[in-house]
Amino acid sequence: MTDETVFSQILSGNIQCDEVYSDEKCLAFRDIQPQAPIHILVIPRKFIESLKTAQDADKDLLGHLLIVAAKVANQEGLESWRTIVNTGSEAGQTVFHLHVHVIGGRPLAWPPG
Ligand code: AMP
Repeated sequence: MTDETVFSQILSGNIQCDEVYSDEKCLAFRDIQPQAPIHILVIPRKFIESLKTAQDADKDLLGHLLIVAAKVANQEGLESWRTIVNTGSEAGQTVFHLHVHVIGGRPLAWPPG
């Protein structure tokens, strides 16, 4: 399957983003419809449709995404934050290129909806 998502367009530079972090494996940028004062997405440069299709070979990359999520949360001065990986449309996934949401800057209710 090929990546025809908006995130592939962001990775190729065809669509602008508000970048907060970049390295050879991933890109982090502000969500266009923030759900909290800080709402950042961390996406792998490699196309993985969702956590459902991730492979054992992706484990270092998936770990890297979480380390970068913490890096950008610290960079933003957050003391508390939530990382979310929506998997599948019923769970709220709308962009089928795996991504980690980093959300913070306000109290977050639990359980989520
Ligand atoms: P999800 O619903 O978990 O698949 O998350 C997809 C996220 O991508 C949503 O929070 C959208 O607001 C966000 N999003 C979609 N298009 C863009 C864009 N061009 N720039 C930044 N964030 C986007």
